[in-house]
Amino acid sequence: MIHLSGVNKYFGNNHVLKDINLHVKPAEKVVVIGPSGSGKSTMIRCINQLEKPDSGEVTVDGINLMKSKAQLKKIRQEAAMVFQQFNLYPHKTVLENLTIAPILVQGKNRDEAEQSGLDFLTRVGLKDKASAYPSQLSGGQQQRVAIARALNMHPKIMLFDEPTSALDPEMIKEVLDVMVGLAHSGITMVCVTHEMGFAREVADHVIFMADGQILETGTPSAFFDNPQNERAQQFLSKIL
Ligand code: ADP
Ligand code: MG
Repeated sequence: MIHLSGVNKYFGNNHVLKDINLHVKPAEKVVVIGPSGSGKSTMIRCINQLEKPDSGEVTVDGINLMKSKAQLKKIRQEAAMVFQQFNLYPHKTVLENLTIAPILVQGKNRDEAEQSGLDFLTRVGLKDKASAYPSQLSGGQQQRVAIARALNMHPKIMLFDEPTSALDPEMIKEVLDVMVGLAHSGITMVCVTHEMGFAREVADHVIFMADGQILETGTPSAFFDNPQNERAQQFLSKIL
């Protein structure tokens, strides 16, 4: 579903992705962890073309992103992203937040977009907030709306970039619970997070990044219980 082969990315002289190879099969869940500044966000952003690599190949669902600029719109719909900051439209209701892109970008009719939007709001436990505005919701609720909004594009891939990092501790679980449910639905997921419980529960592979490189890949138990790479050992000793 996702292939990054020999991907390099520079910001000026800063070589932030160094020969990255990442292969994710349909329905696989991959958790990416590593120190701040290691290139995790940049890598995940290359998957939906929020960043363009300087060299290498990126293929998503059979579409070669390095060759076909015209595919941008299609890729953004296939690979929906949830960020640390929820970025909801403040002057739109919750349900409007969910229906704007399906109507304007995907050409869905309003009834269809609202019906599926309400289904996804139900799934994240927020159907009763359909008419509320984002400012009336807690951070955890806003992030659940952001997840429902991404799902209402009916993506094949969900990308998460530290979705719980901006939340108060008591709200983290409600968001992770939604993500665990989603993981069990069979969607392909790449998730940057330091939530080890989540990684252990859902990840097929954990990927450890540092200094723009993937230094270790393993199952959650192999990685957390017996990391091989020295940088990974140091990192885990600080966060576990
Ligand atoms: P992580 O998500 O692991 O914290 P990032 O991918 O955000 O790491 O950043 C990797 C490196 O790239 C850092 O040195 C960061 O400062 C730099 N970087 C990220 N985005 C940009 C940008 N838009 N312009 C310039 N430098 C950037
Ligand atoms: Mg980041």
